[in-house]
Amino acid sequence: MAHADGETFADIRDAVRKTCAAFPGSYWREKDENAAYPKEFVDALTQAGFLSALIPEKYGGSGLGLSAAAAILEEINKSGCNAGACHAQMYVMGTLLRHGSDAQKNTFLPAIANGTLRLQAFGVSEPTSGTDTGSIKTSARREGDHYIINGQKLWTSRAEHSDLMLLLVRTTPKEDVSKRTDGMSVFIVDLREAVGRGLTIRPIKTMINHSTTEIFIDDLKVPAENLIGKEGTGFRYILDGMNAERILIGAECIGDARWFINKAVNYANERIVFDRPIGQNQGIQFPIARAYAATQAADLMVQQAATRFEQGLECGSEANMAKLLAADASWAAAEMCLQAHGGFGFAREYDVERKWREARLYQIAPISTNFILSYIAEHVLGLPRSY
Ligand SMILES: Cc1cc2nc3c(=O)[nH]c(=O)nc-3n(C[C@H](O)[C@H](O)[C@H](O)COP(=O)(O)OP(=O)(O)OC[C@H]3O[C@@H](n4cnc5c(N)ncnc54)[C@H](O)[C@@H]3O)c2cc1C
Repeated sequence: MAHADGETFADIRDAVRKTCAAFPGSYWREKDENAAYPKEFVDALTQAGFLSALIPEKYGGSGLGLSAAAAILEEINKSGCNAGACHAQMYVMGTLLRHGSDAQKNTFLPAIANGTLRLQAFGVSEPTSGTDTGSIKTSARREGDHYIINGQKLWTSRAEHSDLMLLLVRTTPKEDVSKRTDGMSVFIVDLREAVGRGLTIRPIKTMINHSTTEIFIDDLKVPAENLIGKEGTGFRYILDGMNAERILIGAECIGDARWFINKAVNYANERIVFDRPIGQNQGIQFPIARAYAATQAADLMVQQAATRFEQGLECGSEANMAKLLAADASWAAAEMCLQAHGGFGFAREYDVERKWREARLYQIAPISTNFILSYIAEHVLGLPRSY
């Protein structure tokens, strides 16, 4: 049963909190300042089994549902840690699980579950296509028992810290298919073999520490057995994973929002100006109360979307609304928290400015807000398609 503060899965949350307690703000500040990957944190989550929550037990995972996975990610961010360092493993793995062959699942899933292999990288975005995934140019052509891949990916996060990457490419040119989303295929690329043999990874400096990169692919040979599912239907496989991704990212945003609210409440109670706590001023209390109400409402939508997903019900509109409302709630809470901290909000040691930067991402990635609004307008409300 849901508690008023979203305290579902109390035992799991408690275990996540205990793991996260070893990674305080100072750990994240140091990583942020050095643009370093939080390897120790990801290792700790892996060892505790949290990143294999969605992998079925027969492959060595815990076989939990999406609501439990959402609770894990929420709790990580609520604890002041950043699930962005590893969240992709949870939702990227779904493509392999749903559409991979038995051989692929037997090869990769147990190793992902026990932490021997990391599947953290997801190469969809490209420099020229932007959100228009149907226009990607990276292509693969079959030669005997291999495919030869050429092209470029942009914003492929965690590629330097992942053994495997899911890669979306064109196997038939856009001009030769009747539907522009046909003719795309998904490969599982073994980065340990590919780097230096046709694949080059270059890190991109960004406003947050997200280990994001660009990837250059030049005559990369990938075994045909690494094609997931059927050639030409890859876009559908990626779409299949979108609802889970939206719900899990929404849960992370709820975690961020709760971190900002807790931080602001503590500070507003402690900080004395004009001989009274600043939290006594309604100009400070009301934005905190508003952020809390918005977070509770968004959390209900995340939970509803996750429940529908688990029940196998259609949940596209709920998943999109969950991501939209949760990202808005976390960003509003971030703004509120920075404002409540006054000048101290700018001081790195308070962690507020770092979390504020991190929370901003979810208005843009993995899906920009406009495209969620457009989904709701078109698919829920029946308005004309705009692009
Ligand atoms: C830190 C970071 C990490 C990322 N990690 C990954 C990753 O691991 N793998 C991956 O594949 N991608 C990743 N991305 C890419 C991310 O998913 C894209 O940046 C995002 O989807 C937006 O694409 P774009 O930047 O090309 O924007 P564009 O498509 O160029 O759009 C620019 C702006 O115009 C708006 N816009 C464009 N067309 C329309 C329209 N028809 N209607 C209304 N508005 C429109 C968009 O909403 C956006 O605000 C990451 C991005 C960042 C910043």
